[in-house]
Amino acid sequence: MLTENVIEVEKNIQDACDRAGRSREEVRLIAVSKTKPVSDIEEVLTTGILDYGENKVQELSDKYDVLPKNIRWHMIGHLQRNKVKYLIGKTVLIHSVDSLRLAEQIEHEAAKADTIMNVLIEVNVAGEESKFGTTCNEAIELVRAVAALKHVKIKGLMTIAPFTDNPEDNRIYFKKLKQLSVDIKSKNIDNVDMDELSMGMTGDYEVAIEEGATMVRVGTGIFGERNYQI
Ligand SMILES: *Cc1c(COP(=O)(O)O)cnc(C)c1O
Repeated sequence: MLTENVIEVEKNIQDACDRAGRSREEVRLIAVSKTKPVSDIEEVLTTGILDYGENKVQELSDKYDVLPKNIRWHMIGHLQRNKVKYLIGKTVLIHSVDSLRLAEQIEHEAAKADTIMNVLIEVNVAGEESKFGTTCNEAIELVRAVAALKHVKIKGLMTIAPFTDNPEDNRIYFKKLKQLSVDIKSKNIDNVDMDELSMGMTGDYEVAIEEGATMVRVGTGIFGERNYQI
């Protein structure tokens, strides 16, 4: 069942790439496995997907411990500073850096572990009250400050677009994030790459790809609806 979902999502990604004149290799599919059991991930692993997204440090750690070590774990959820130490060495990319204080904590823990942590700056492009993320206006300032941290490497930007039934509603936000990344790239800040754009979820990943996403985070479309009671 999950295998069929992956095939369907893969087809949609390919079609969106074709429409946008992009190559499939430019887009990484991250299977968002939060709340889902290890057995589901094992099933999806058989399709060859190696990138998985989690939004809780404890859950990511638990799954990391029991699943194959070639999995690339992505931390996509809001991150508390006191949890950073449990993530270092387990995640390839933290998508949700939205404050200098958090980045400094990552710097501290990454330095201790003698490693460099790759991060994205989370931007609340739509300005939704309920969402984390820096504003478009403050993003450059945050990027400059984080760039000074030696053990934190900015790879690009991430956004969570508003929940909507009509993915076209979110096109302007994806365009805005893309434009912001072009603006920041043009400043040529040391220790900053703007190669990655993490945007698009089950409801809107095709539009996000058309607007330049390099990473899409698909949960429900692969694993089915989440049940938060269990
Ligand atoms: C849960 C989650 C997703 C996946 O959402 P779906 O709509 O199920 O695809 C993507 N990104 C973030 C940050 C999430 O928390």
